[in-house]
Amino acid sequence: MYFIDPHVHMISRTTDDYERMARMGCVALSEPAFWAGFDRGSAEAFRDYFRQLTDFEPKRASWSGIQHFTWLCINAKEAENVSLSREVISLIPEFLDKPNVLGIGEIGLNKNTLNESTIFEEQYDLALKTRELVLIHTPHLKDKYRGTRMIADMLLNDPRTEPERVLIDHVEEHTVAIARENGFWCGMTLYPLTKCTPARAVDIIERYGDDRIMVNSAGDWGPSNPCAVPDFVMEMRRRGHAESKIKKIVYDNPLEFFRQSRNFKYTPPDTLAEVESVA
Ligand SMILES: [Zn+2]
Repeated sequence: MYFIDPHVHMISRTTDDYERMARMGCVALSEPAFWAGFDRGSAEAFRDYFRQLTDFEPKRASWSGIQHFTWLCINAKEAENVSLSREVISLIPEFLDKPNVLGIGEIGLNKNTLNESTIFEEQYDLALKTRELVLIHTPHLKDKYRGTRMIADMLLNDPRTEPERVLIDHVEEHTVAIARENGFWCGMTLYPLTKCTPARAVDIIERYGDDRIMVNSAGDWGPSNPCAVPDFVMEMRRRGHAESKIKKIVYDNPLEFFRQSRNFKYTPPDTLAEVESVA
């Protein structure tokens, strides 16, 4: 089955990972900007990161026949540094017309601090003014519920919010309803150690349905598996769910959300060019 991984940090992965994902049916993916494992020292470091996301990674993905899309922002962890964040925000617009940029993300909260909220709102304002889609990271820590609630309140307090243009990611059993009851899209992250397992994600689908929901691997530099979406497909099959329902979650739903972006030019797999060989 073809699938799209809507949240995977490929700069942390090898070209072999792209190849394995392609073999398992991955035809497109989207890569949000995130924390590199260390705090960057200047806005220029982010400029280089954005060049990597908009220039080199799409090329590397194309070697395996995968279409690469991306999201730009300063992440919640480094948003604690407000002055650096504002410098980074000011350079984002120069990248928004790059052909693989879908919007602003993953913005969000980490420890639910005032500085993080301030920078979240400033980046959300940029997204609204430039008519970009938004991808949101919710905290992994013990106060995930509180952070997700805070994010939903900030979004709902802004009269310009169109919930169908916002994806709230890393939802779990106790936060999925916050996103869904307010009309936002939501993503479940399949991680080997934390967040959702494939089995828990299927439980959530069985309880809440398959509208406006998708699954991702969030593959990154920590313990993670860029082929976690196929594991979810296998678990859905094991429980007897229809292929059409599985396809809706791993392919049709990400497409429906991404299509709202003016930059989303997608070539369906049947017409994908032959895989370029890596010279
Ligand atoms: Zn992420």
